[in-house]
Amino acid sequence: MECIRDLTGDIKELRIALLDPQTIEFVPGQYIQLEAPAYGDNPEPVFRAYSVSSPPDDNGHVELIIRLVPGGICTTWVFEHLKEGDEVRLTGPYGQFRLSETQREMVWIAGGSGMAPFWSIVRHMKRHNIARKTTYFFGSVRKADLFFLDELSALAKELPWFEFVPALSGNDGDWSGERGLITDVVARRVSDSADVEAYLCGSPGMIDAAIKVLHDKGVGDDRIFYDKFA
Ligand SMILES: Cc1cc2nc3c(=O)[nH]c(=O)nc-3n(C[C@H](O)[C@H](O)[C@H](O)COP(=O)(O)OP(=O)(O)OC[C@H]3O[C@@H](n4cnc5c(N)ncnc54)[C@H](O)[C@@H]3O)c2cc1C
Repeated sequence: MECIRDLTGDIKELRIALLDPQTIEFVPGQYIQLEAPAYGDNPEPVFRAYSVSSPPDDNGHVELIIRLVPGGICTTWVFEHLKEGDEVRLTGPYGQFRLSETQREMVWIAGGSGMAPFWSIVRHMKRHNIARKTTYFFGSVRKADLFFLDELSALAKELPWFEFVPALSGNDGDWSGERGLITDVVARRVSDSADVEAYLCGSPGMIDAAIKVLHDKGVGDDRIFYDKFA
C-alpha cells in the first residue's frame, strides 16, 4: 500500500503499487476484488469489489476510492487497520461496466464513492483524446462530502466536451452550484427525448431512482449502464 489519504470524512483513496505481477491491464470502468484478511471478530478473509479509479496507463498502480460502511467487514479493515507499507491481495480486473463504442452523448451520474470509475474514465478520455460530449452529475448531501471538485472543474474548463455538475441535497450555505437530489438535478438538466447514453455508479437506491428519471426522459434500458455498489 503506497498511499492512503482522506477524501472526505468517510471516503479514502488508496494507491497500491503492484508487486506481483507488477502491472495490470484493464478497461476503465472495471473493478478489482480486494481481500480483507481475518482480523478482530472477522474469522476469515473476505473479498469485496472496488472500481479502479486510476487510468489504465498508470498500469503499475491501482487506485481505489472506498467509502466506510459502518459495521462493514472490508471497509472497517481499510479504515481502522490498513496502513501505508502493508501488502494487500487483489484479483481482477472484472466487470462489463465501460464506455460503449458509440459516439453518442453521455450523461454520468454518481454519488459518493461512485466517483471511482468516472475518475478513471475521464482521465483516460483526456489522455487519449476521446472527445465525446459528457455531462457528469455528482451528488452528495453536504459540501464536506464532495471531493475532486477542483480537479473536475479544471478538467471541465480545459475539455470542451466535458461538463461537471456537482449538486448538494442538503442546505449548506456558501454553495453556488446545483441543489437538490441528484436525480432531481438530472430531471431538470437533461432534456426530454435526449439522445444520450447514461452511466451510473453508486448506491442501489440512487441508481434505481436515476433509472426512473432516465426512463421518463425516454432513455431506454439499452442505453443505461450501471454498477450498483451493493
Ligand atoms: C461492481 C462493484 C463495484 C464496487 N465499487 C465500489 C467502490 O469503488 N467504492 C466503494 O466504496 N464500494 C464499492 N462497492 C461496494 C463494495 O464492494 C462493498 O460492498 C462495500 O465496501 C461494503 O463492504 P464491507 O465488507 O465493508 O461491508 P459488508 O461486511 O459486506 O456489509 C456490512 C453491512 O452493510 C450492508 N452494506 C454493504 N454494502 C453497503 C453499502 N454500499 N451501503 C450501505 N450498506 C451496505 C450490508 O448489507 C451489511 O448489512 C462496489 C460493489 C460492486 C458490486
